[in-house]
Amino acid sequence: MLFSDVAEHFSKIEATASRLEMSAQIARLLSECKKEEIRPLIYIIEGNVAPAYEGLDIGIGEKFAIRAIAQTSGRSEREVLAEYKKAGDLGSAAEKLLSKKAQLSLASSQNTLMKAYHSFLKIAKLSGAGSQEAKISLLSELLNGATPLEARYLVRFCLGKLRLGVGDPSIIDALSMMKKGDKSDSEAILRAFNLCSDLGEVAEAYISGKSMAHFSAQPFKPIRPALAERLQSAEEIIEKIGKCAVEAKYDGLRMQVHACDGRVEIYSRKLEKMTHMFPEITSAALKLGTKSIIFEGEALAYNPKEKKYYSFQQTIQRKRKYGIDAMSKEFPLRLFVFDLLYLDGKDLTLERYSSRRAMLEKVFRNAEPLVPSEQIITDDPKRLEEYFNKLVGEGLEGIIAKDLNQPYVAGARKFAWIKLKKSYGELADTIDAVIVGYYLGKGQRKEFEFGGLLACVLNEETGKLETIAKIGSGFSEDEMVNLQKMLEEARLKERPKEVNSKLVPDFWVKPKYVITVAADEITLSPMHTCGMVGETGYALRFPRMISLRDDKGPEDITTTKEIMAMFEMQKKRRHD
Ligand code: AMP
Repeated sequence: MLFSDVAEHFSKIEATASRLEMSAQIARLLSECKKEEIRPLIYIIEGNVAPAYEGLDIGIGEKFAIRAIAQTSGRSEREVLAEYKKAGDLGSAAEKLLSKKAQLSLASSQNTLMKAYHSFLKIAKLSGAGSQEAKISLLSELLNGATPLEARYLVRFCLGKLRLGVGDPSIIDALSMMKKGDKSDSEAILRAFNLCSDLGEVAEAYISGKSMAHFSAQPFKPIRPALAERLQSAEEIIEKIGKCAVEAKYDGLRMQVHACDGRVEIYSRKLEKMTHMFPEITSAALKLGTKSIIFEGEALAYNPKEKKYYSFQQTIQRKRKYGIDAMSKEFPLRLFVFDLLYLDGKDLTLERYSSRRAMLEKVFRNAEPLVPSEQIITDDPKRLEEYFNKLVGEGLEGIIAKDLNQPYVAGARKFAWIKLKKSYGELADTIDAVIVGYYLGKGQRKEFEFGGLLACVLNEETGKLETIAKIGSGFSEDEMVNLQKMLEEARLKERPKEVNSKLVPDFWVKPKYVITVAADEITLSPMHTCGMVGETGYALRFPRMISLRDDKGPEDITTTKEIMAMFEMQKKRRHD
């Protein structure tokens, strides 16, 4: 397939607002591909060259892309910059400038999808001295053989700003629609994806006719994390799942550790490799005496002198301040292991929790700093509540109750895990929202030029980000300066396509920074688009930022459906 054909499809996808239509467009594109082209194409649509957990960034800076565009269009860099300012993005600038150039239509110089992909891969893998020049020349070569529309997407891709507005769920639906004409296979494809986090591999297998049920957990393929539902009382939890394991909810850093044949990898909640940051966890995993293992836990820094645990926020701050080695010595980490997903060649994700836990307790009996999470087993709401109060009294966030009979539900929020947290105002929980824009300061704050954030939750049904709060408090002056610097770099000229907003901030930003927000309550508001029906949406009253969540990505944020459920809980609580 020619990359120019891919570009034609991309421009149609980009112009589509409906998620279903978008999947139908992707299905048409996929059906024109050869089998071996499916995997690279899926990565490209995702904006990557490999599954995201490989961390292979394409990494061409704007400055270098400008140079490549100048070289191929025969314009000066200044002219390219001027066009960029006018068009608002470099991809459109390249398209415009190349359309003014006489086109060479030599078939031999045309880019195929595979040629473009291999060049992208090379660009991503180049590093060290002279690598920028080599990257520029690879991009220039692609641009030389490109149609103007093709240039738009080549440049955007290399800048990491493809912005088709397509998420993994739309790609999964497209695969099913391509083969079945409807979404009937989506669930099975999603299950396979949840187990290996590699949509390219899953798509290739699906299209080759392999059963999605053959997918199982494997070392060094991170499993998409299970998520917790929320209820608001011990009674409700016992009513829902009966006798259950009630575990301490540690406010630390979630880790998924894979170890096999002397190799260890540690993945974050976003499935990014962070092995190098935790040498003490790596060496402990190597000493377990297992052949192969995948387990999950929550890591907290521990101060042995004061017998005190540090929260996620403090752990990260200390790591930045002291460096990795000093931090490991002074504040050793403890990883509270709460699930076992794979052991000695066997996928355990379909085993009941009670069996997984029994194995976990055996493996981690004497494995400091890897220790089983603290838990009790009960079917008595009073006992659950006492335990909750004890843990909150010790400074923990609350509890997570676990259904003893459930498998590990990768990548999904199900009632297999239920969290009960100490409350914030009247709200039963904090909210994780993504920043989509920011405001400049007024009055006293003007000095910092930072006036607040516009934050969104995710409507999973439409794939859109919907605004829920304008946040003007909760930040220290240092935080304001940092936030502003960070957000300045993520600025966009216009509203990102996936954002649905009635408010217009002073600057839009690429939705990538996630924050935890506390609020007094959820209210109805005509200003916010979260769950909007007619003129009314949901909003947070007195929202304040609690922390920036480096460990969460925009796909991990609170959903509109969760906000609606929290609103109902709040109503119920008032009537009780
Ligand atoms: P939340 O991020 O508030 O939705 O709560 C779920 C998170 O709690 C998980 O992603 C884990 O990082 C964390 N967590 C802390 N302790 C546990 C535990 N014992 N079991 C499962 N998750 C836990």
